[in-house]
Amino acid sequence: MFHFDNSYTRLPERFYASVYPEAVEGPKLLKFNADLARELQLDAESFGPGADENRLAAIFGGNVLPAGAEPIAMAYAGHQFGNFVPQLGDGRAILLGEVIDVNGKRRDIQLKGAGPTPFSRRGDGRAALGPVLREYIVSEAFAALGIPATRALAAVSTGEAVYRETPQQGAVFVRVAASHVRIGTFQFLAARGDTDGIKVLADYVIDRHYPDLKTQDNPYLALLQAVAGRQAQLVARWLGAGFIHGVMNTDNMTISGETIDFGPCAFLDEYDPMKVFSSIDAQGRYAYRNQPGIAQWNIARLAECLLPLLDADEEKAVEAANGVLKEFGERFQAAWLTEFSQKIGLSGSEEGDGDLVQGLLAAMHKGEADFTLSFRRLADAVTAEGEAAFLDGFSEAPLEAGVTARAAVAEWLVGWRQRLERDGREAEEQRTAMRAKNPAIIARNHRIEEAIAAANYGDFSFFERLTTALEKPYEDQPEFADLMAPPTVDQRVLRTFCGT
Ligand code: AMP
Ligand code: MG
Repeated sequence: MFHFDNSYTRLPERFYASVYPEAVEGPKLLKFNADLARELQLDAESFGPGADENRLAAIFGGNVLPAGAEPIAMAYAGHQFGNFVPQLGDGRAILLGEVIDVNGKRRDIQLKGAGPTPFSRRGDGRAALGPVLREYIVSEAFAALGIPATRALAAVSTGEAVYRETPQQGAVFVRVAASHVRIGTFQFLAARGDTDGIKVLADYVIDRHYPDLKTQDNPYLALLQAVAGRQAQLVARWLGAGFIHGVMNTDNMTISGETIDFGPCAFLDEYDPMKVFSSIDAQGRYAYRNQPGIAQWNIARLAECLLPLLDADEEKAVEAANGVLKEFGERFQAAWLTEFSQKIGLSGSEEGDGDLVQGLLAAMHKGEADFTLSFRRLADAVTAEGEAAFLDGFSEAPLEAGVTARAAVAEWLVGWRQRLERDGREAEEQRTAMRAKNPAIIARNHRIEEAIAAANYGDFSFFERLTTALEKPYEDQPEFADLMAPPTVDQRVLRTFCGT
């Protein structure tokens, strides 16, 4: 079955609680990711073609515990919207165990929505079908885009109702992660003054995620730098994809640098840097353009936890941590510039490239241009013939006195082409590079909602079609043109809701 090799349960017992999934009434397999199963080296007889679906449903629904599983709920704390909660923990997620994948990487297999745990507080430990499908769609879309994220191995319906504002169908999501250690995992120990525990956890994550750092003079400072570096990279990728995570609490930020917790997340349709979708983010704390600042704030919380390990002298430890935070800003800026330079087709860099990108974004904002389509169509605008479709995406709204957004962006194209010329690539090469960087399709909110609405009535055909389309985001796929189009005014989704 699974070749489990569980390292987290070898850590001190105070890091987790042992807990069994609670059996469900009628588990039914909704979706199974056979490619990922192969990557995880799950055995072909149980998980390969022709596998017994009922048995898969029983395992992934939590009714049958596979051999070698050592189910636990992990302890963690976290800042939720800036407020510190000393104990959160897996309230509805149970880690079955870890496997080693084809690349020799250790991966967690977790059931989300598998029943109550000692960390459930007042929650029921369950998940509803809608959020499970949303997480399935978006995590696999991320994988296809090539942005680090947890993966979806399966979705199972439970045959039971869960009660939110209204009764909903229950489901379990099977999540695969490089690990589930979060900034909040460190905060859990720090809040208890458990410096020994912090050191054990830091050594564990260095071993698991950053083994090269072991030989550094100060591996803990190197760890902080490395986590900051991966987060800076990750957020730059999010911005490049027009993605808004929605709940960047410190318990939803991994140490591995994978995106985790696709709750009220959404991709932008028309570009608006202050965009917020999440119904619970009334202040706009996690708005599109706030994400790098929040990531830095979260890294500062991690730094606080690691202070005792950074230097015996507290002042020096603080100084070292501040250095990392300052570096974060610089690293993010560099990652952002690389990301967007590539999006506009540059292979090299030049003074003023940042302004060039900002000029386009400003026109997109005023012109209410679709984020994804604008970049995709820009690839065709390397030659004059492709220009019209790109320009059509911009409204005639005035940008500044007497100049419309469309006119402004037409002007922008002139400067951009001059810059491309200096960059020196052939038009066709440029176009190919841009198409490989700018997806034609993203998991648009209104399509996710449509898939969920149909699934709630037992029809999974649209969910299947959408997940299939999202497997090849950089290809044109004319058969999925409808899924690439932005929402019409009445299709627009204004709010997204958390999975809880
Ligand atoms: P999330 O918003 O999914 O990141 O969850 C925040 C915290 O609430 C975590 O500690 C979760 O385990 C917990 N939680 C969320 N939903 C439930 C639920 N239905 N039952 C129990 N705990 C939950
Ligand atoms: Mg979470």
